[in-house]
Amino acid sequence: MRMSRLFLRTLRDDPADAEVPSHRLLVRAGYVRRVAPGIYSWLPLGLKVLARVETIVREEMDAMGSQEVRFPALLPREPYELSNRWTEYGPNVFRLKDRRDNDMMLGPTHEEFFTLLVKDLYSSYKDLPLNLYQIQTKYRDEARPRAGILRGREFVMKDAYSFDIDDAGLEKSYRAYRDAYVRIFDRLGFEYVIVHADSGAMGGSASEEFLAVAETGEDTFVRSAGGYAANVEAVTTVVPDPLPFDDVPAAHAEQTPETPTIETLVNHLNVAFPRDDRAWEAADTLKNVLVILRHPDGTREPLAIGLPGDRDVDVKRLEAKVAPAEVEVFADDDFAAHPDLAKGYIGPGVLGEQQSTGIRFLVDPRVVSGTRWVTGADVDGSHVIDLVAGRDFTPDGTIDVADVRAGDAAPDGSGPLELARGIEMGHIFQLGRLYAEKLGLQVLDENGKLVTVTMGSYGVGVSRAVAAVVENSYDELGIVWPREIAPYDVHLVATGKDDAAYDAADTLVAELEADGIEVLYDDRRKESPGVKFKDAELLGMPTIVVVGKGLADGVVEVRDRATGERKDVPVAEAAEHLRGVCR
Ligand code: ATP
Ligand code: MG
Repeated sequence: MRMSRLFLRTLRDDPADAEVPSHRLLVRAGYVRRVAPGIYSWLPLGLKVLARVETIVREEMDAMGSQEVRFPALLPREPYELSNRWTEYGPNVFRLKDRRDNDMMLGPTHEEFFTLLVKDLYSSYKDLPLNLYQIQTKYRDEARPRAGILRGREFVMKDAYSFDIDDAGLEKSYRAYRDAYVRIFDRLGFEYVIVHADSGAMGGSASEEFLAVAETGEDTFVRSAGGYAANVEAVTTVVPDPLPFDDVPAAHAEQTPETPTIETLVNHLNVAFPRDDRAWEAADTLKNVLVILRHPDGTREPLAIGLPGDRDVDVKRLEAKVAPAEVEVFADDDFAAHPDLAKGYIGPGVLGEQQSTGIRFLVDPRVVSGTRWVTGADVDGSHVIDLVAGRDFTPDGTIDVADVRAGDAAPDGSGPLELARGIEMGHIFQLGRLYAEKLGLQVLDENGKLVTVTMGSYGVGVSRAVAAVVENSYDELGIVWPREIAPYDVHLVATGKDDAAYDAADTLVAELEADGIEVLYDDRRKESPGVKFKDAELLGMPTIVVVGKGLADGVVEVRDRATGERKDVPVAEAAEHLRGVCR
């Protein structure tokens, strides 16, 4: 490919809406171009990278025995009704109508359709196990499309599904996909971790995510030195043992004027009600947070969450726990509708399905029986001290949504946790019989009895991977592609005014291409060498070859984009040398 013909304009400036390096660089280097929020066009270079990612995914799926199919993106309503997801998706999908007024959806994922296809065609245990996949465009009306193609509203996903007769089969299929994913992500060439994932919303059991390690990632994960790793959404808090409370004095309400925040409360306690043993701390207080859950059918349900005052509700953990309901703020109108709530001084006295507000009250798992709290007395300017869980109040249940902190204990006892951020690249998931039951996917077993098939679902963010690789591989000059997914192996820059350099470059390009090495050849005569080098560095091919000044000494320069290393190679040996480099 000659730069003089390539459909490309590199940009000097960053796009105004770009928050993360991959977004900035992919737009500037002419790989993608924005059409609307979260909706991008792929230009020639970008499309080549996308195709390479697809090839890696396809090769590894084929190698493990999964067979490729392709469903439409434009889908009818009925199957989504059977799984209840027509409603559950709420505002997160694109819905439309055909000319006969039939409801349609642009597919956000395809569990229902894979399940129904297998139900259509298969009927015996002898047909299983079965593995199918597709690489296809998905549509989700994301609340916060961001970072270019990292979180798009139209994006390319590989989704695969396994069908087995029993749990042991599902376990085996899951393993096979997990191994294939390790190969895929190794080949894609970025640093990744495999973490336990939340499997709440979809039901199902075992579930893991493959996260690209990146500071710009939207997911937070934890790991311990002892090998535990999980998305924060999936971390479970270590529940302390219940405490005896026979010696705890009776709860007493006290005046605590002007203490609507935990900080003001703790300060006031230490002045007005000092403890003998130590100072009061935020962790001694029980903070009661109110939110609204909006259910898919549109109903709004208030929820109160009680947690130690030194912690906050982690919204992503909460969203994962309550999905498909969405979380909204508890607004002034909601306070007005519940006059028993004394804002800033809310306590368990009015919270709970059996209490005056009737608001469901769930507490952090650390709030075990016998724990002793300072909390709101449900009167403006007043708190209760020595309020004991299990003696003075009984919540409706627990909810594990407090923020996870560095130093918290890993749930498997493998030591303290550290936190880092990542980009979700893949998700493997033992769905179990959830969809098969809802859609009636049964086969006859060895004894002629109908049994429900058990399924797994396995996704890879194919278009997202293009951006994730860049997040992991760039410098101040531009993109640095790993060779396996670079659009071209070699970026060959010819410099100079006379024909000699271009003639030599033509010959070398022909030689390389004859060897199957893909070359992006900068043959532009009007551009200065400076402009050409800048472009080469921005575009990010792994090897840059300069054919120009050195020719007088019979050499070309070979640069490694990643290390910046430069080497002069005799013209006659250049092709041979590059064959070695690009192998
Ligand atoms: P996220 O938490 O990032 O929204 P998800 O849990 O919704 O992801 P899945 O439904 O499991 O994702 O989809 C499988 C894969 O598709 C994800 O692991 C991710 O790599 C990719 N993916 C999901 N949503 C998007 C998006 N909006 N843009 C690009 N890729 C996406
Ligand atoms: Mg999502």
